[in-house]
Amino acid sequence: MKEKGLLTVVSGFSGAGKGTLMKGLLSKYDNYALSVSMTTRAPRPGEENGREYFFITREQFEKNIADGKLIEHAQYVGNYYGTPKDYVFEQLEAGKDVLLEIEIQGALQIKKKFPEALLLFVTTKDAQTLVNRLKGRGTEEEDVIIKRLKRAAEESEGIEEYEYLIVNDDLDTCIEDMNDIIQKAKLRADRNKEFIEKIRKELKDI
Ligand code: 5GP
Repeated sequence: MKEKGLLTVVSGFSGAGKGTLMKGLLSKYDNYALSVSMTTRAPRPGEENGREYFFITREQFEKNIADGKLIEHAQYVGNYYGTPKDYVFEQLEAGKDVLLEIEIQGALQIKKKFPEALLLFVTTKDAQTLVNRLKGRGTEEEDVIIKRLKRAAEESEGIEEYEYLIVNDDLDTCIEDMNDIIQKAKLRADRNKEFIEKIRKELKDI
């Protein structure tokens, strides 16, 4: 019904499996585009510049902010993260549903700037599963894991700002549920004001 894509924010606890979910959505369906963020954190083993993130210096990041190149940005555990503007707008115009995998401060900035955006929050079924996943991933030192868990506790205070909870238990079910939620959200009357205006006018003109 709506030609422009839907801007979808996906937040969730570090270790809840957002990255894997995003990859699953992108490989299973062809209507999604994933925004690649800029960050000042160091690449993890296996991460590539331009694929997981654009890895840049603090100076470069601050220049991007000053030049208005980001639609949102935030600091997370000592590093900057932000969403480049141009790609998001291009893809939305092309009809793609754009996924932003960002933390809560960024999500709230998006909600303010784009009230039509859909906000999803990914969580594990309980806290222990989160601890096990963060430890099992083996990519972070113990102190970073502790910081990320503290941050998760803070982020849990903001969950009600999101429209849907995605409980990441069985991955395939979760990917399908997420696709269903996004596609149904596009049909909500409050996200289709232009369509409603158009059909009202057409009916009057008959
Ligand atoms: P990580 O270091 O684990 O890749 O990401 C840390 C956190 O930053 C995650 O919660 C991730 O969703 C978030 N993040 C990644 N990119 C962005 C971004 O562009 N903006 C904001 N606000 N958060 C981001």
